[in-house]
Amino acid sequence: MNFELSPELVELQLRARKVAADGVATYGRFNDSWINGFSKDFAKVMSDEGWIGMGWPEEHGGRARPPIERVIVAEEMIGQGAPIAAMWFADRQMGPTLIAYGTADQQAEYLPKMLSGETTWCIGMSEPDAGSDLAGLATSAVRDGDDFIINGQKIWTSFGEVADYCYLICRTASDGPPHKGISEVIVPMDTPGIEVRPITDMTTNRHFCEVYFTDARVPAENLVGVEGNAFKQTMVQLQHERGGIDRLVSNRPLYDHALTLADTSDPVVRQEIAKLETGYQVGRMLVYREVLKQAPEGFSAATKAYCTEHEIRVADFASRVLGAAATLDDEWTKEIVYGPAYTIMGGTSDIMRNILGERVLGLPREPR
Ligand SMILES: Cc1cc2nc3c(=O)[nH]c(=O)nc-3n(C[C@H](O)[C@H](O)[C@H](O)COP(=O)(O)OP(=O)(O)OC[C@H]3O[C@@H](n4cnc5c(N)ncnc54)[C@H](O)[C@@H]3O)c2cc1C
Repeated sequence: MNFELSPELVELQLRARKVAADGVATYGRFNDSWINGFSKDFAKVMSDEGWIGMGWPEEHGGRARPPIERVIVAEEMIGQGAPIAAMWFADRQMGPTLIAYGTADQQAEYLPKMLSGETTWCIGMSEPDAGSDLAGLATSAVRDGDDFIINGQKIWTSFGEVADYCYLICRTASDGPPHKGISEVIVPMDTPGIEVRPITDMTTNRHFCEVYFTDARVPAENLVGVEGNAFKQTMVQLQHERGGIDRLVSNRPLYDHALTLADTSDPVVRQEIAKLETGYQVGRMLVYREVLKQAPEGFSAATKAYCTEHEIRVADFASRVLGAAATLDDEWTKEIVYGPAYTIMGGTSDIMRNILGERVLGLPREPR
């Protein structure tokens, strides 16, 4: 099997490498840059390069490029720490979701400004009492004439403070099985009745927020897809969210830094580097399989678990290579301490293993 990239893909990779390096030089380098590197200006650069909506169909303004091209561009951006966060959720998730489930009006209204890098979207899924258990969420959207009235609280909402829209997963019915009454609604973040309280994490990153909704009124036409069908729609979205290269290379700059300091005269260190290099190769192949749609249904859970656990192994390796310097409270310390976030966000490794066991391998469920 030949894993070499074609000359055209190498050309794209080199272009992306340069744009990413310029982005880092201009705006700074960010760890986990698709979450922490927020720059509207760089989103515009991505748009000008044609790197937002690369794989979306042309009738929706996309470039209809093969999915592998998006992986190559994203690996260069995130692998160098370039600030792509302002456009990332829209490109990865909200755009494809609106293309799959949105109305023609919604597509006409929202997709162009995603493609131009002008709008930032946040995802309002997790709640204080419902993280892994999506069916347990309580934020309600109650129909009142032509509107929904929204009440409740979200937490860990990345970009809540800066987003133009929230893609809200909420409860529109409370009778029947819990997963049946969940819907997806687009909520403009300037809607009266929304209060955003940013959370600073222990590494001083400040992207996620608590978001409170108190009688926030949005038009019923902002419902995406079928009312009460969000569980199914959200599962498709989570597939977009879990199987990508963003789950493998988010702390690649930390790895590259550790390599410059590692004592490679030590055979144990060399073995560890060989294992991590292999991990990058295996992870990349898993991601390629996802985007080429060659992976079994639901397998993105395994890809996500493998790749994000690799990122933790990278942080662990870096902490040992840096030794006492890992406690200096500098950018590298922050990146090491940030490590556990990778296997939590987007669904924890425990949940990924449950999905793999129950839905992919068909193992019996543990009685509850
Ligand atoms: C950096 C970062 C960014 C995030 N951004 C967003 C965002 O933009 N929008 C958003 O909505 N959310 C976001 N999240 C939240 C994230 O999706 C949740 O933290 C995650 O789904 C876990 O939910 P929880 O924190 O409520 O933990 P819980 O669900 O309370 O889980 C606690 C522990 O119990 C384990 N557990 C729970 N249920 C089971 C089970 N059935 N079987 C085995 N083990 C189980 C979990 O693995 C975990 O170890 C973000 C999180 C992080 C770290």
